[in-house]
Amino acid sequence: MDTGDHVEVDQIARRVRDIQARIQQAAQRAGRKPEAIRLVAVTKTVPVECIRDAVNAGVSMLGENRLQEAVPKIQQLTAVPGVQWHFIGRLQRRKVKTVVALFELIHSVESVELAEEIDQRAREAGTQQRVLLEVNIGREASKGGFAPDMLLDVAQTIDALPNLAVEGLMTIPPVSSEAEASRMHFRALRELAQSLASLKLQRMRMHELSMGMSGDFETAIEEGATMVRVGAAIFGARRG
Ligand SMILES: *Cc1c(COP(=O)(O)O)cnc(C)c1O
Repeated sequence: MDTGDHVEVDQIARRVRDIQARIQQAAQRAGRKPEAIRLVAVTKTVPVECIRDAVNAGVSMLGENRLQEAVPKIQQLTAVPGVQWHFIGRLQRRKVKTVVALFELIHSVESVELAEEIDQRAREAGTQQRVLLEVNIGREASKGGFAPDMLLDVAQTIDALPNLAVEGLMTIPPVSSEAEASRMHFRALRELAQSLASLKLQRMRMHELSMGMSGDFETAIEEGATMVRVGAAIFGARRG
């Protein structure tokens, strides 16, 4: 793997501390408790040595979006206590079994069929899988995720899956160079979560909002994010 684009090891620790400070400040600006927001360090394309450094700097949640790439990293870092892996990418049904075995939280459940598959695999494994429902909040044709109004329609069906622990929503807003442009989308996700919560479904919980990345995590926190997914701002720009 090409590691040429990755920042040096002590720089990663510094960047983690910087991001954590910015999370804290954004929380305070919004009148929220800083501990209500968790940092998920996104480690796609990042080699294990750099991930280890982020973990040593206090990161405990790691996000990967490609299973094939994640598996060897997870295996190499199994001995590190307190680390949990989050699956944040598009998930094919035939890979669900492995993902259920390896990941604490799946952020990217984007269809009823996928929810059913995860439920079935979790049942076979004798577990409950913690998940978030991904919402295509900007209604982009190129993106996966539930359309916002569709999610209200299928919520009951998903709620009936006993081995799925739905904890909230996730979104990736339309790409923009302006963090402020994401604000309306973050707000819309929070409002959708409130609408879902008001359905008072039996199992489904809506206490997590996974939103905000390197360019807009502070805006996301101001709008209610409980998990921010930050890659480049910690590990440096990715190639490709
Ligand atoms: C890559 C990725 C991120 C992190 O993006 P950065 O801009 O590097 O912070 C967050 N969420 C998902 C789903 C990703 O694929």
